[in-house]
Amino acid sequence: MASWRNWSGELSCTPERLARPSGTEGVVTAVRQAAAEGRRVRPVGSGHSFTPLAVTDEVMLDLSACDRILHVDRERHRVRVGAGIRLRDLAEALASRGLAMENLGDIDRQTLAGATATGTHGTGPDFGNLSTQIRSLRLVDGLGQIHDLGPDTDGDGGGEQLLAARIGLGALGVVTEIELEVVDAFVLRGHDNTEPLTRVMDEFEQRVAAHRHFEFYAFPYSDRALTRTNDPVDGPPRPPGPLASWLTERLLTTYALEGISRIGRRVPSAIPRLNRFVARAAGEHVRVDASHRVFASARDVRFTEMELSVPRAAGMELLGEILDLIERERFPVNFPIEVRTAAGDDNLLSPAHGRDATYIAVHNFVGLPYREYFDAVWELARRHDARPHWGKRHPATAADLQALYPRWDDFARVRSELDPEGRFANDHLDRVLGPVAG
Ligand SMILES: Cc1cc2nc3c(=O)[nH]c(=O)nc-3n(C[C@H](O)[C@H](O)[C@H](O)COP(=O)(O)OP(=O)(O)OC[C@H]3O[C@@H](n4cnc5c(N)ncnc54)[C@H](O)[C@@H]3O)c2cc1C
Repeated sequence: MASWRNWSGELSCTPERLARPSGTEGVVTAVRQAAAEGRRVRPVGSGHSFTPLAVTDEVMLDLSACDRILHVDRERHRVRVGAGIRLRDLAEALASRGLAMENLGDIDRQTLAGATATGTHGTGPDFGNLSTQIRSLRLVDGLGQIHDLGPDTDGDGGGEQLLAARIGLGALGVVTEIELEVVDAFVLRGHDNTEPLTRVMDEFEQRVAAHRHFEFYAFPYSDRALTRTNDPVDGPPRPPGPLASWLTERLLTTYALEGISRIGRRVPSAIPRLNRFVARAAGEHVRVDASHRVFASARDVRFTEMELSVPRAAGMELLGEILDLIERERFPVNFPIEVRTAAGDDNLLSPAHGRDATYIAVHNFVGLPYREYFDAVWELARRHDARPHWGKRHPATAADLQALYPRWDDFARVRSELDPEGRFANDHLDRVLGPVAG
């Protein structure tokens, strides 16, 4: 029996069987075998979720061998790929063909199926989460049957099964192939800067509107913010040399942050001073490179995280409330709060379903207390109709979530169609989705 651990190291399990099929037929065989044995199945990507979505002591299906580029239609800007491909490998393969994904999150280590299953997103008011780039997908259901889901394939003409499966939490079946809409490759100029927090908050809407991708990090106990602005530019990429890249990616964002986080863990009373120091020291930094290399950074310092999607206009109010809360309660928080935006979409369980979103992410270094802090933030955010990121920690239950998603019952119906026996259930899904409807 092989054991499994997630990226942050906080979750682990020892599945009875860990299968690594290399295509749809292998997944069918694994699901049918599990069904015959009465065992439950959890698909897993690269283990970057903070919630125990993939945790199982029964059968774990690792899709990392389903990672091929299957078809590229350059004219129509469509690609079909194995669902277990890592975002980084996909981005490099697209770049070599003059193509790119229109937007990405801040790392590229996740698998495509894993990232889209939880609604992973980047930033930018004109861009939905990554799942909105999916045009069709192939899925093996709980009975081991293959479905090709597209806009018109499930009989109702509305593509309801696709709208459910684009952010399916691995609760509807195992996705083996994904067809994506992509764009022509582009070069981004990424500009990071430290600025007064109040100015950034006051100008948030203008900056979001003025740039293709704007986000910022607010440092608790500090009056500074780190802004990150990415806009397309003409001309070739100018990738940094290996030394410059090591300095920014490794020395500053990993070793320095790790060291400062460790000091904060040992001496929590030093955290306000450390945060003020980091916020000022971050400085200004410009990169001009292929889009996927500007979007993604190295994230080697282990942290835990909760992220909440609120209606766009509520974002700055909630951020102010969280910063006040931290100071009032003296929570030992030595990670900045990340603020991003996304366009609303129609995927049934998208945290941005039906509304443009501001995403606010709170973190803490692994080993520092986080639960009281996250719970208090959740209570504040609930007043703004916050919906939690599915892959990140949150205390919400199915009863809480049902009230937040207008098409919750449609998702439950699709789930009972595709997984009538609860083959893909686990304890966490029981908590956040409830049991499969009978
Ligand atoms: C350092 C770090 C940075 C992050 N940055 C961002 C960010 O910028 N934006 C953001 O929104 N999120 C971000 N996340 C969260 C992350 O993108 C999500 O948790 C994502 O789901 C992880 O993908 P994964 O491949 O590791 O999947 P896993 O965590 O392994 O699995 C996630 C879910 O996908 C399901 N799944 C996996 N493969 C399949 C399949 N083939 N078929 C069906 N279901 C499947 C699993 O069952 C599970 O429910 C970050 C996480 C970390 C640790």
